[in-house]
Amino acid sequence: MGGVKKVAILGSTGSIGQQALDVIRALPDKLKVVALTGNKNRKLLEKQIREFQPKMFCSSVKPDVSYGGEFLSVEEIASHPEVDFVIVATAGKAGLSPTLAALQAGKTVALADKEVLVMAGEIIVREASIHHAQILPIDSEHSAIWQCLQGEESKPQRLFLTASGGPFYHYSQSQLAKVTPEQALQHPVWKMGRKVTIDSATLMNKGLEVIEAHWLFSFPFDSIEILIHPQSIVHSMVEFMDGSLKAQLSWPDMRLPIQYALSYPRRWSNSELPRLDWNKIDSLNFEPIDHDSFPCLKLAVDAGKSGGTYPAVLCAADEVAVELFLSHKISFTDIAKIVQKTLEQHRNIGQPSLEEILAADNWARECTTRLSLGHCEEPERRSNP
Ligand code: MG
Repeated sequence: MGGVKKVAILGSTGSIGQQALDVIRALPDKLKVVALTGNKNRKLLEKQIREFQPKMFCSSVKPDVSYGGEFLSVEEIASHPEVDFVIVATAGKAGLSPTLAALQAGKTVALADKEVLVMAGEIIVREASIHHAQILPIDSEHSAIWQCLQGEESKPQRLFLTASGGPFYHYSQSQLAKVTPEQALQHPVWKMGRKVTIDSATLMNKGLEVIEAHWLFSFPFDSIEILIHPQSIVHSMVEFMDGSLKAQLSWPDMRLPIQYALSYPRRWSNSELPRLDWNKIDSLNFEPIDHDSFPCLKLAVDAGKSGGTYPAVLCAADEVAVELFLSHKISFTDIAKIVQKTLEQHRNIGQPSLEEILAADNWARECTTRLSLGHCEEPERRSNP
């Protein structure tokens, strides 16, 4: 299909959503916004709607705009015949139901909301396959792996996800315990939303990315490795059976993986995307990660390996714990402790339905909140799905 690609952005007011709009703004002869959805940031959504005049929009608070656009549900937008391409840039479980709607309608889905695959990877991959719908990665590491796989018929033997290590990589446990939300929100390389910035500092984000890679590339957990790479220039690597490694490099800028998903299988020139300036790069460093130093990383990978409802519980517990940390109610090191306790209290369900996944998510939110208040030593088991 030639011509202009008609794009829906779910979560257009978030960090990825705004950068997706930057890409579309720069390429008006190739891309057109046909739908925008937002949540709490009404002012920004109204501004975006006025600029792009999408055919459809959705938001939790009805935006104050008057033009010919139609107010629809996110699921109606995601599966609408006028939409060619759906960018899921929502946060957490909000992306789950619209992603399923888009896949069931056979749409091409570019996923930036990693929790969708973490929580319900099995269901998402199955629905995509049944409906011949494509899932394309937007996360920079997964986009890198996907780019490295182009033109290869042999599956790699190992995947190397790179991690900047976040701002506290060399901190001791006692230093970590004193980290403030303000410090944790200063990521050394990437400019991202608040939740993912904290997840990068605890390395929970990298753990979620391991689970994401497992589902996107149907790759076993034990063959996915993590390398600390502070410069964030090499976005990830694959290693083939002959020992050859392929990596994807670029200046860290999320607009590139967003644009690659949109242009695939081609590449488009965009003068706004930065070029690597080798004069500014002294060295590229890599260091295997010490899993034991990062409890959140280990919790995530273990939850991914156990499967069932554990990954959904992990995501929900982490979301609540990060919010508690950001509102100064728990310490930085409490995030891992409280997530671990929630996982320990959970009774796993293997091959869960979507309803069971959402019930586990609800249960975990309640449990984590009660744990933070200090009275969830033994949560009521009967409330556990
Ligand atoms: Mg990433």
